[in-house]
Amino acid sequence: MPEVGVAAKGPIKGLGRAVIFLGPPGAGKGTQARQIAQDYGVPHLSTGDMFRDHVSRGTALGLRAKPIMERGELVPDDLVLSMVEERISRPDCADGFILDGFPRTLPQAERLDEILQRRFQTRPLVVHFVVDPAQLMRRLTGRRTCAIGGEIYNVYDQPSKVPGRCDRDGGELIQRPDDREEVIAERLAAYERQTRPLVDYYRRQGVLQDVNGMAAPAAVTKSVLELLAQKR
Ligand code: AMP
Repeated sequence: MPEVGVAAKGPIKGLGRAVIFLGPPGAGKGTQARQIAQDYGVPHLSTGDMFRDHVSRGTALGLRAKPIMERGELVPDDLVLSMVEERISRPDCADGFILDGFPRTLPQAERLDEILQRRFQTRPLVVHFVVDPAQLMRRLTGRRTCAIGGEIYNVYDQPSKVPGRCDRDGGELIQRPDDREEVIAERLAAYERQTRPLVDYYRRQGVLQDVNGMAAPAAVTKSVLELLAQKR
């Protein structure tokens, strides 16, 4: 495992720490995490994607998570934590990683702090995507994801060139079952109830940076990259 800060010294790939993308559903965390993880050559860990993978494979975890996800509620902390702990213990996470959709509750954040302290001897950097609530519904109802590569589009603001097909690999663009309006309302409520308190938690630790998530995706990427460069 590299020492803390080693990855930050030269033009070496890697973040050298955990970077958390925090914000409500539809804030652009997934779109930005995909791009930035690729730029830095670090893993993009989306707990939502991990659960969707378990659901599609029909694992025991997937069977437990499926009905909870369909209601737009949060999966219990113990299930999320054991999945994440296993994932970040793998060697590809040694130079840092981007967490998208985790942590989402105070107990998850506290446990993550313990793990990071042990593993990296650092606190995470938290990028908080600030987006107007009215914009979130439009982004979520319009979101479509490539069934092959996971590329994210939006039928209103970020459409593919050929409707229903991914620009990159021609894969079918599908709508997530929890991106229906009635489920979205519950997901946004769960965010306010259980995840919003993490903004204060991390702000008090002095590790949180706000980013304007209302800008165009490329402009948001630029702001996040600048922030990461500053914080190296
Ligand atoms: P996402 O793709 O991040 O919007 O996550 C989709 C769904 O997966 C959420 O609505 C939750 O049901 C579940 N989920 C993802 N991450 C977490 C987490 N950190 N804690 C609890 N549930 C989660």
